[in-house]
Amino acid sequence: PNYISVSKLANLLNCRIETLIKDLTKLGFANISHNYILSREYVELILQEYNYVLPASQAAITSKNIYDGLKAPANPKFLQRRPPVVTIMGHVDHGKTTIIDYLRKSSVVSGEHGGITQHIGAFQIVTPVSKKSITFLDTPGHAAFLKMRERGANITDIIVLVVSIEDSVMPQTLEAIKHIKNSGNELIVAITKIDTIKRPKDREKAIERVTNDLISQDIPVEKIGGDVQVIPISAKTGENMDLFEESIILLSDIMDVRAENSLKTLVEGWVLESQVRKTVGNVATVLVKRGTLQKGKILLCGNTYCRVKLMVDDLGKDVIKAEPAQVVEVRGWKDLVRAGDEVIQTVSESVAKKYINRRIALQAVEKDAVTVENLNEQRREEAE
Ligand code: GDP
Ligand code: MG
Repeated sequence: PNYISVSKLANLLNCRIETLIKDLTKLGFANISHNYILSREYVELILQEYNYVLPASQAAITSKNIYDGLKAPANPKFLQRRPPVVTIMGHVDHGKTTIIDYLRKSSVVSGEHGGITQHIGAFQIVTPVSKKSITFLDTPGHAAFLKMRERGANITDIIVLVVSIEDSVMPQTLEAIKHIKNSGNELIVAITKIDTIKRPKDREKAIERVTNDLISQDIPVEKIGGDVQVIPISAKTGENMDLFEESIILLSDIMDVRAENSLKTLVEGWVLESQVRKTVGNVATVLVKRGTLQKGKILLCGNTYCRVKLMVDDLGKDVIKAEPAQVVEVRGWKDLVRAGDEVIQTVSESVAKKYINRRIALQAVEKDAVTVENLNEQRREEAE
């Protein structure tokens, strides 16, 4: 049943109980006290009649935010530079996968390992000139990303928009531009496939055309005094790829991307992917956003936890420690976690278990309860 007490409703609405009782009395309710129970229908009526604004999130502890209690605010003293996290977007066939393949291959060749890459949804490269790291996520269309975005988590720092020199701006380019503007991410444009136009004059003209098309979409490119770099590249021949990689470093230097990282920092991260691997068990790809992940640490996620047994990178190689912006496959989960969920370190297994039990109890109560969230959800549905 969907019932709520007057005091709890006042709490949710962030108003004084006395004010709410006065309003209810005006609506015809009699003998109302703080523990008077209202049904959902009445709650709706009250909200409509008095235009109460539901706060975006409730102050009360819920199953969704219970783990926030484990997070300490970032200590500015321990903020360290970290690699930028980059996603690539653009129209189909404009060269996203080819760029990723090029970058992966060059990072594999430069490493000592054989080169069989395991798909973990992300990888890190070291740039050829400045020798700095960049993390590329290669599944930006993934449901997990939508979920993280819904939670207000913007896990990427920079979006690379690819535009083919042959086709210029296309429908999905426009969609990507819309997303970039909404997300507030920093932007770099890569004009791809420049090897397809050999004559320098023709190539220059084609680049000019793409640049002008971007300007018509209000992209503040450097040509018109803006700060969006436009890099013509070919991921096929490798032309300008070093310039492209360094342009990302240049931008991240300006952005000064940082994360808290000290011996005492409790790890936080996001699950990008999860699966059951044969002979290995439950694994989760985790993007570390804070702290340093190491074997033996206890991680809490959803309704389960893990004592980190092993961490491997996209080459299947053991990883001793994963720092902010690094992505590793974490092994040792009791149960399968869900992509898009947040990962938080606890000081012990018993703390993790305690929080999980409290969360499960909250989830049982919330199933039928009137909350700001499900009221907002209902309002959204009705508005549609
Ligand atoms: P995606 O859909 O954005 O991932 O595009 P792909 O990377 O799969 O590329 C689509 C097609 O364009 C493939 O046939 C690629 O070989 C080709 N392609 C991608 N990049 C280049 C490039 O720099 N030069 C040339 N000539 N072809 C390219
Ligand atoms: Mg592709």
